Amino acid sequence: MHVHTIAGLLSGMAAGQFSSAEITSDYLQRIASQDQQLNSFITVTEELALTQARAADERRARGEGLKLDGIPLAHKDIFCTQGTKTSCGSRMLDNFIPPYDATVIKALNAAGSVCLGKTNMDEFAMGSSNENSYFGPVRNPWDTDCVPGGSSGGSAAAVAAGLAVAATGTDTGGSIRQPAAFCGLTGLKPTYGRVSRLGMVAFASSLDQGGPLTRTAEDAALLLEVIAGVDPADSTSADRPVPRYSEALAQSLAGLRIGLPQEFFGSGLDAGIGSVINAALKEFEALGAQLVEINLPHANLAIPAYYVIAPAEASTNLSRFDGVRYGYRCEDPTDLEDLYTRSREEGFGDEVKRRILVGTYALSAGYYDAYYRKAQQVRRLIQSDYLNAFKEVDVIMGPTTPNPAWAIGSKESDPVSVYLEDIYTLGVNLAGLPAISVPAGLSDRKPVGLQIIGQHFDESRLLSTAHQFQLATDWHTLTPPGFGGKS
Ligand code: GLN
Repeated sequence: MHVHTIAGLLSGMAAGQFSSAEITSDYLQRIASQDQQLNSFITVTEELALTQARAADERRARGEGLKLDGIPLAHKDIFCTQGTKTSCGSRMLDNFIPPYDATVIKALNAAGSVCLGKTNMDEFAMGSSNENSYFGPVRNPWDTDCVPGGSSGGSAAAVAAGLAVAATGTDTGGSIRQPAAFCGLTGLKPTYGRVSRLGMVAFASSLDQGGPLTRTAEDAALLLEVIAGVDPADSTSADRPVPRYSEALAQSLAGLRIGLPQEFFGSGLDAGIGSVINAALKEFEALGAQLVEINLPHANLAIPAYYVIAPAEASTNLSRFDGVRYGYRCEDPTDLEDLYTRSREEGFGDEVKRRILVGTYALSAGYYDAYYRKAQQVRRLIQSDYLNAFKEVDVIMGPTTPNPAWAIGSKESDPVSVYLEDIYTLGVNLAGLPAISVPAGLSDRKPVGLQIIGQHFDESRLLSTAHQFQLATDWHTLTPPGFGGKS
């Protein structure tokens, strides 16, 4: 009964093949029996899930079924969920029970979806491997010695292992696309402003964007339709109509101009990934698209610019965690100063502290011009590169990551080597563009992601391009050995 897509579950429930209560219990059982191996969930909301599932079944029986009625989802533990702990992967928020739902969660609940629980993540979304979680690392179901990617690694591992049909994630510099790539999923980072950030714990506010991790582009379209849209409580959300993404999937690839940035195919790219991506590009050509070489001359500056801007914004966003208002408070503080310093020292992990130090330094008087202002200028150059490229092409493609998933612990002593792995994803956030990672094959038995980057608010094009590829290939249907779950 284990159907692995939202679309499949919706039609199965509509046809009366199974109820939401049945599939929800099935997922809960899978979580109970398999997640010790993966550590993909921080909190499992069993009672809530079963209550929501029964309510969905009753609505359907009355003929009042909602758009996502009865679909069991997992939510990254960065989204505030009323009454359910929202830790953001941190000891700092291990005791935080939000009094309200994030707008994304509200929208998904209003569409009838079921919440299975909250997924593990790098602390405050800082990382690419999920090793920076207070709740321990997440394992990649394709190879449990390897990282699942991050920071939405719990969401990716859970969906890949069939512990949820889809999940929410957030992407500040790649945290939806990169774990999707490492776990063989479809991961969509929408245009900045397409999805409300209200109730999403802030990392770098000018870059953060929520989005779906799913098996298929069709499922991503179904979720984006629900979560996209203006939110009066988030002034950076875009007041533009939300297209019916799922109805635009049939758009053909004939004549599509695909830009291939030469900078994304250089010497830093793993050979196995390179050949998977080239095979995928041939498939697009066979489907009628046209490949065009392009340049993004400032692509190599994305890492230094991002790793100034993101920590700078993080250092200000995280100043609210001071042991006074909410979150972790140290025991027996001797005075106010001790309360602040020890609460932050004990509440935050190493990577978060590193970012706060870098960000505070970059914003301090005397260094602001040299680092922060300079990084913002570089950001503008990166964005102009993309906008120039889009004068010639409809979408841009390349690998999502330069290397496949690495072994847990292997990069522990060298944080910069982890930052370098973000080379293909960061520029998209700096430019505010939408991008999707789709499974394109395996290299050394590990999934490889193809990244498709679109113009601002052109998610329809991204989703239809990914969908047409998925109609012609079956990479997105592969499941990790040992977690196949087709029963
Ligand atoms: N890996 C990047 C970082 O560590 C991006 C993380 C993200 O997108 N949240 O900052």
